[in-house]
Amino acid sequence: MALRHTKIVATLGPSTDSDHEMARLMQKGLNVARVNFSHGKAEDHKKRIELVRKHAVEHKRAIGILADLQGPKIRITKFKDKKIHLEQGASFTLDVELDEGAGDEERVGVTYKDLPKDVKLGDILIVDDGNIVLEITEVLDPIVKTKVLIGGELSDSKGINRKGGGLTAASLTSKDHQDIRLAGDMEIDYLAVSFVRNAVDVSFARELLEATGSQGDIVSKIERVEAVENIEEIVDASDGIMIARGDLAVEIGDAQLPGVQKNLVAVARRRNRFVITATQMMTSMIENLTPTRAEVLDVANAVLDGTDAIMLSQESAVGKHPAKVVAAVDRICRGSESTNLGMDRIERGAQQFYSTEEAVAMATMYTARHYNVAAILALTESGSTAKWLSQQLSGIPIYAISPHSSTHRRVTLFRGVFPIDFVVNVKAELPIELQAVKELRRRKIVKKGDLLLVTRGDLAGVQGGTNTMKILTV
Ligand code: PEP
Repeated sequence: MALRHTKIVATLGPSTDSDHEMARLMQKGLNVARVNFSHGKAEDHKKRIELVRKHAVEHKRAIGILADLQGPKIRITKFKDKKIHLEQGASFTLDVELDEGAGDEERVGVTYKDLPKDVKLGDILIVDDGNIVLEITEVLDPIVKTKVLIGGELSDSKGINRKGGGLTAASLTSKDHQDIRLAGDMEIDYLAVSFVRNAVDVSFARELLEATGSQGDIVSKIERVEAVENIEEIVDASDGIMIARGDLAVEIGDAQLPGVQKNLVAVARRRNRFVITATQMMTSMIENLTPTRAEVLDVANAVLDGTDAIMLSQESAVGKHPAKVVAAVDRICRGSESTNLGMDRIERGAQQFYSTEEAVAMATMYTARHYNVAAILALTESGSTAKWLSQQLSGIPIYAISPHSSTHRRVTLFRGVFPIDFVVNVKAELPIELQAVKELRRRKIVKKGDLLLVTRGDLAGVQGGTNTMKILTV
């Protein structure tokens, strides 16, 4: 069977906590496991990561671990009776000084103390992802009075966004600081930073992660209007982005989402960053055994647009059939990739190259598209050449050959890149690229007569040192 080039990220949760389910996720093709710091305790996350690592070893798979920070999500606090019902047209007050747990049909507390300073008369507040909509009728710090435009049931701790964005809570909370230390201790591969507004937010998160000794990659979650406005600087400061469609759609409005999503994928690919498309990809499969046609098309369109990965949230964390959802995404990705649609992007035209590694990678991909190449082999230390190669969609597998398990896990998010654990012998007579070819032949990944492209550097063990492309026939 052809390889699947688009990667699958699944959020861990109660539904994936058993050995049985984790083994099935591995068999169905999980690439990256996400722990969500918005839910659960440090102990839960540690146990889940241990379970993934145990099964990754048993199944001889490289599985990346992505830790996702809660960030400054603005929420209502709690009600005396856990939930209330709001009638359309009723008045409802948000009071930033109300005691936690004292909410009722008339008022509720809010976690963000500066809310009255950041809003004005006429602003629309979207609560619980749009299930409740409030219009501000008066701001009298510490209270914000509203009229209910869309009513319904409202329960404890639901999120609040302002339509159009602009609620400016700082992007890292004290809980995030603690969780970054936890992520560093757990040696995660990727840290997802929620609600970033600009490159400074991203760099600050990176500094904190690096201070723990971690070399994990930073994934910026694009879910604020400000992030969409500052996308180029955010992409440049990050290793990759996540299109966090839940909060993003609430802020920009659902009608804007398709255009923004497509543009985010294009910007990330152009600037050599990976991109994860997330949220409500397969929502109906939380309950059902098969996806709706609309969900099939949603996943397929993300693949055809060039996403590196599809992410599952509740579908895997609390859904009834996590492994079946992974199998469905696997099937849809393969089907979409086999159409070869979206593969006709032109190389970078007149654009300058800024490093030897980039120049070699682009020359390799140009050759790959115009010659009958079976596979590309990248002898890589950190995975960075593999990332450059992956930037150009070709449908041709890129094997990232490295002795480092951290590199195998880092490339788990790059589209079309497959890690190979192999230590070249720099002292042997056989050139290192031929050692790699021999190993892939031994593993039956390539066969006699296959045309291969190999990238390597002159000095094994040097990061970013790729300076050569070779064309070989097995
Ligand atoms: C989102 O809002 O779409 C998202 C991915 O973030 P979270 O799951 O943390 O709410």
